[in-house]
Amino acid sequence: MQKTDVGKFAINNLSFMLEYLKIPSVSAKNMGITEIVDWLTKTFKKLGADKVSKWRDQGGNPVVFAEFKGKMDKTILFYNHYDVQPVEPLNEWSTDPFKPEIKNGKIFARGVCDDKGELISRLTLIKYFNENGGLPLNLKFFVEGEEELGSPHVDKYVHAHSQELKSDACIWEGGGKDENDNFKITCGLKGIASFDLKVKTAGTDLHSSLASYADNAAWRLVESLNSLHGNNGEILVDGFYDDIEPLDDVTRKAIEKIQFNSKQVKAEFGLLRPFITKNPVFDLINGPTMTINGLSSGYEGKGLKTIVPKEALAKMDCRLLPNQDPKKIANLIQAQLIKNGFDDVRLSYNTGEEAFRTDLSNPFVQQNIESAKEIYGEDKISVVPNMPGGGPARQFVEDLKVPIVMVGINYAGSGPHAPNENIRLDDYSKGSEFLANLLVNYSKK
Ligand SMILES: [Zn+2]
Repeated sequence: MQKTDVGKFAINNLSFMLEYLKIPSVSAKNMGITEIVDWLTKTFKKLGADKVSKWRDQGGNPVVFAEFKGKMDKTILFYNHYDVQPVEPLNEWSTDPFKPEIKNGKIFARGVCDDKGELISRLTLIKYFNENGGLPLNLKFFVEGEEELGSPHVDKYVHAHSQELKSDACIWEGGGKDENDNFKITCGLKGIASFDLKVKTAGTDLHSSLASYADNAAWRLVESLNSLHGNNGEILVDGFYDDIEPLDDVTRKAIEKIQFNSKQVKAEFGLLRPFITKNPVFDLINGPTMTINGLSSGYEGKGLKTIVPKEALAKMDCRLLPNQDPKKIANLIQAQLIKNGFDDVRLSYNTGEEAFRTDLSNPFVQQNIESAKEIYGEDKISVVPNMPGGGPARQFVEDLKVPIVMVGINYAGSGPHAPNENIRLDDYSKGSEFLANLLVNYSKK
């Protein structure tokens, strides 16, 4: 296999991707789901899959499963999703989100980075190997349609179909290059607990003159939130940090090696305040968080309305580390509120995902690193123990006992979920070369 041939092949077969990008598969609006599931099923069959199934038995949008037999009896499982985020605000797009356009060496379209381009780069490789001596090893695909809704059914599908999904290693979505154009090999995800805090202090909003004697739901909520949070960003909840496992040396060293450009990050997001930590990289990877996502109470319209609000609501999330249980964390927070004298501030749990990390010394991780060095160069690789964000990977680890690695084709300016989502053609072709190289290397060992 000529490595650069694979890159050229990917670029020459772009029409394949453009077709897929045109299908407006927005799960939040229940748009285009049947169409895209049919397209995928048809495409898997066309590529010569030994088995293609539409799983519907666990509810929600169907999961498309496909299996390809290769020359060696080793199997890699790919996780992808066919749904995309809504496109709004439409006026901030410089192209039509569902009419992909190529300009200045980039492809613009909704989903091209998250996560349609990645799936197509994987499918294009099958096409390449079909025309060049056959697939080096077995491949399986798990393509779900509710990732942008928080993957409410994935755990059930993985559990129910664990026999069919059985494989030796798994490649996740969401990979690519960082701000310094280093190719990331990410080996885990943070967990999350999402919940609401609500407090009610009266049966009705009151005239604000009564603030002399009547308690105020907004103050009450703000004070309760404040009691959970220290001056240096620490989370003041008994037991919150107890289950976190100490970092091993390899992981600690990997975190220390990650490059982080504070200036660039501050400029990119227009941050107006200093960082709340002295060590942003370390906390990004190995710091749990507690975040107010939104606050609402009382009158929020134009002009004025002098009232004491009867109720107040905070939308919250915590990003969690391996071994922290989202439901337990929520219970600890409720217990702390009661202990702090806020027994009327009620927590309701929305959803949660557990964190995980694949051991960095796992042979599959090492093979990713070696294969990437051959394509990108020794000093352009970044090994990241886990993403700062989450995803429904935990069940795959639990049921399939596979190492999971995230590698792909996006870059720091790809703008997933944002207007003008894009990928660079160069990353697409190099990413395809990398993946082909990995499959060949992995099939040999
Ligand atoms: Zn995604």
